[in-house]
Amino acid sequence: MSRVVVVGAGIAGLAAAWDLVRAGADVTLLESERRPGGVIVTERRDGFIVEGGPDGFLAAEPELPALAGELGIGDRVVAQRARGSSLWTGTALEVLEEGRAAALLGIEARGADLAAGFRSFAGGMAEPVAALAERLVNNLRFTQGVTGIAPARAGWRVALTGGSAHEADGVVLALPAYAAGRLLEQVGVAGARTLAEVVYAPSVTVSLAYRAEQIGRPLDGTGFVVGPDLVGARHAVPLHIRACTYASSKFPGRAPDGHVLLRAFLAPAEGDPAALAHGELAAILGIGGAPLWSRAFHWTRGLPRYPAHHAAHVAAVRERLTRLAPLAIAGAGYDGAGVSACVRSGREAARLVASRLGVS
Ligand SMILES: Cc1cc2nc3c(=O)[nH]c(=O)nc-3n(C[C@H](O)[C@H](O)[C@H](O)COP(=O)(O)OP(=O)(O)OC[C@H]3O[C@@H](n4cnc5c(N)ncnc54)[C@H](O)[C@@H]3O)c2cc1C
Repeated sequence: MSRVVVVGAGIAGLAAAWDLVRAGADVTLLESERRPGGVIVTERRDGFIVEGGPDGFLAAEPELPALAGELGIGDRVVAQRARGSSLWTGTALEVLEEGRAAALLGIEARGADLAAGFRSFAGGMAEPVAALAERLVNNLRFTQGVTGIAPARAGWRVALTGGSAHEADGVVLALPAYAAGRLLEQVGVAGARTLAEVVYAPSVTVSLAYRAEQIGRPLDGTGFVVGPDLVGARHAVPLHIRACTYASSKFPGRAPDGHVLLRAFLAPAEGDPAALAHGELAAILGIGGAPLWSRAFHWTRGLPRYPAHHAAHVAAVRERLTRLAPLAIAGAGYDGAGVSACVRSGREAARLVASRLGVS
């Protein structure tokens, strides 16, 4: 039986491991943290569903519904309830035309795809993660940080923190590009350094819970984007929040009846992000009183920003990998940062390694 090590249990690594197990490989999925999902984090609190990372995926993309169907949770996919977003001009919220909010936030997606809206899961984006982790319970190893890979007799030797190692016939690296790039540099893959240099932008998200009557203005649409000239040092009194999602309007079941859940996106800044977010949201949305609670998530390395010629660099690295024992890269750092693209890339990496091992 071919032994495959998948490194990283974010959605890309989970999808890769799931396909490899079903292809008949002996799979070990190594994750440095104590939980699966990577940047996908859903928490429950007092009847609210709080997302720390992604809150949905483009409805036009088939990868998540297809995966959910295979996992028996296809009926948990939910559609976006509210549509449209606004721009905070500094004095008013003005309705934006379709696709403008995404463009202002630097989210790359086709207009037609944005027009089809977003979907999520009834219990939040961690639902497919939990379903995959449950199926992979015998393959998943937590707190197993990979420190190096090296060619071995049969294929690869995968070294772990603490000094132990796994031998494998094939490897999938489903890591952020900076982490995979470092491992590939050790093996002497030319161009691996360019992957290690993909910059992941820092961000902070703050979820804030309120009673509905605390909100002084109607919450129209899914949220608002702050005008770029109002954020940061370019403005006399700069705002810290870049955007706000009306989480309880956007998807069903995010807050108990009579309550509102907001999620603010902030640039990293000095000070308490929850206090900054509440202060600025209170001014914009006419909020009275303090939030019932707040929850901040700090992403020191959040979404990757691809440099010029990124696709060509990735293609060149992948071409060099074909000359080594079976080894593939997958995840947000390469072919698209959205959750759907990560699932696609994990599955493609699994297919590649499986076909080279003759187990597909
Ligand atoms: C705040 C935020 C909001 C987002 N919103 C959306 C959204 O609404 N819709 C959307 O489609 N996408 C969104 N994204 C993007 C999307 O969520 C991510 O790009 C995607 O989930 C990344 O998945 P991944 O498996 O490639 O990587 P990750 O989730 O980063 O997983 C990599 C895993 O590898 C592990 N690891 C790292 N180093 C090692 C090592 N040496 N050894 C072992 N394990 C290691 C990590 O602990 C992690 O679990 C958002 C991202 C962020 C940060």
